[in-house]
Amino acid sequence: MTGVTPLHPSPLLAVDGVSLEYRTPGRVVRATHRVSFDVHAADRFVLLGASGCGKSTLLKAVAGFIAPVEGEIRLDGEVVQGPGPDRIVVFQEFDQLPPWKTVRQNVMFPLRATRKLGRKEAAERADHFLDKVGLSAFADAYPHQLSGGMKQRVAIARALAMQPRVLLMDEPFAALDALTRRKMQEELLALWEGDEADGGRFTLLFVTHSIEEALVVGSRIGLLSPHPGRVRAEINSHQFDLHSAGSPEFQAAAQRIHGLLFEAPQQSAAEPASAGAPARRYA
Ligand code: ADP
Ligand code: MG
Repeated sequence: MTGVTPLHPSPLLAVDGVSLEYRTPGRVVRATHRVSFDVHAADRFVLLGASGCGKSTLLKAVAGFIAPVEGEIRLDGEVVQGPGPDRIVVFQEFDQLPPWKTVRQNVMFPLRATRKLGRKEAAERADHFLDKVGLSAFADAYPHQLSGGMKQRVAIARALAMQPRVLLMDEPFAALDALTRRKMQEELLALWEGDEADGGRFTLLFVTHSIEEALVVGSRIGLLSPHPGRVRAEINSHQFDLHSAGSPEFQAAAQRIHGLLFEAPQQSAAEPASAGAPARRYA
């Protein structure tokens, strides 16, 4: 990726000391513990961690589906109180498109449901974003007629058509074959490069368990350690893209991340991470 992520004085999205729990009768599962990170406008911020470290739970909290038990999440300085059209999620599952709606109707649906646009304008915007993901020819097709990759493209077009403040993606390519995954990563980066007519670069919060995907997709990576999820470190990764994958620098970064994720933290029992110590930061 070319260009440097601009640093703004205040973040677009602030996740500030957020602990998240699941409560069932007789049992409390703490999914994340005092997680903090900032996402600035036009960042591609990746949350990276092993399965079960609380990535999806964090994304759901940012989306407003789950409320923190401590800490807060702020968007444009306003505490997130619930879901809203300013945060749209793209999920991993291929069944996120209602099967009885055509591709165009699927993309139009949130634009109409939130009364953002009238029918004609919504159809025009849907066609515009379907063109951007290369699916103009499938506007009148139904989801069952599409491959997994094409369904994810529709979900991405539907999300971008809403022009959210933050686009949230939860392992959107994890269920795809390796070649399609690579193609989708490339397309996502090209969409992010975007053009001014679409309001310029969007802000992305992307979840993955793949170190390589994190390095390719992210401009910044928050590393989460598990049980409960805590921010282990934050690193810059804007210097990497699909073309640098496999280079010695890329391999070295992947190795370093692997070490940070899987080696025991260098902390004494008297100084647990829960004491609120800031995560290690790498420039
Ligand atoms: P990830 O997305 O990183 O794989 P999750 O956010 O899905 O992790 O899960 C974090 C933790 O919360 C895990 O220990 C998981 O078992 C637990 N968890 C997730 N969903 C629920 C739920 N609905 N009820 C109880 N525990 C849950
Ligand atoms: Mg998950």
